[in-house]
Amino acid sequence: MPELPEVETVVRDLRPLVVGRTIRAVRHGPKKLRKPWQAKWNPLVAGTRIEGIRRRGKWMVVNLISGRAVSAPRLILHLGMTGQFTAVDGAHPAPDHLHLVLELHQGRELRFRDPRRFGSVTFHADEAEVEAFFEQNGLGPEPFGLDPAYFRQAVRGTSRTLKAVLLDQRVVAGVGNIYADEACSLAGLHPQRRGKSLTPADADRLRGAIETVLTKAIEYRGSTIRDYVGGSGLRGGFQNEFRVYGRTGDPCRACGTAIACVRLSGRSSHFCPSCQPTHHKGTKAAQRTTKKTQEGIR
Ligand SMILES: [Zn+2]
Repeated sequence: MPELPEVETVVRDLRPLVVGRTIRAVRHGPKKLRKPWQAKWNPLVAGTRIEGIRRRGKWMVVNLISGRAVSAPRLILHLGMTGQFTAVDGAHPAPDHLHLVLELHQGRELRFRDPRRFGSVTFHADEAEVEAFFEQNGLGPEPFGLDPAYFRQAVRGTSRTLKAVLLDQRVVAGVGNIYADEACSLAGLHPQRRGKSLTPADADRLRGAIETVLTKAIEYRGSTIRDYVGGSGLRGGFQNEFRVYGRTGDPCRACGTAIACVRLSGRSSHFCPSCQPTHHKGTKAAQRTTKKTQEGIR
């Protein structure tokens, strides 16, 4: 499932290929996406010009501008599990599972393909509707430049597992199963640890690890597990760099211990049992010391 680095890669790929181009016509397929595209949107999109494209969490927003109506409508896209949003020469044969085609000038096409149809493309009248949409979805802050105090409170103020906290888009937008596991691994924290068991330093380390992992993944154009491709059709390369994700039984790159896997929040969660202990080392040592002291007193 595409997460922040994959969506960011699509946006960066598409930007030079589509911004400034006019949408001549819109074609849509008969099958319903998670949020179905509506035929009444076709004439509202045809004739507009693509002014920009950006990412927010795992979502994409396409800014359109209409000269006739002096309006600035938006498209909001989600790749779901298997979505692909690519700009190609219209002469390329149409693939299967194609749900929406924006015909651009000079024969280029912006195509939304999605075999499993968990993705969506929706039309919104203006930027205010986009803001309202993300608010309704409870979308939290972007993971880059997060306020340390906010993140400490969000993590340490809950008894949920780190995995559950990181998957929660209200806490931080854009992280999914892959990068939650990778960030916990980099921070040396077990994904099953309760948020409230973390020290402020642990929380800071986790926040830094999220940024580092996502930044590195973007440099590698994201991770291609199944269908994901960037906006120009190229695959990602970060799947070869995983520390723990999908490496169950393989040796930890740091200590050689076999990577383990448990189910947390309904998702497979990968970790190194040695580098990511279930309990805080300090706490455990402190518990031992307390016990010894008590025994000594007795
Ligand atoms: Zn290890």
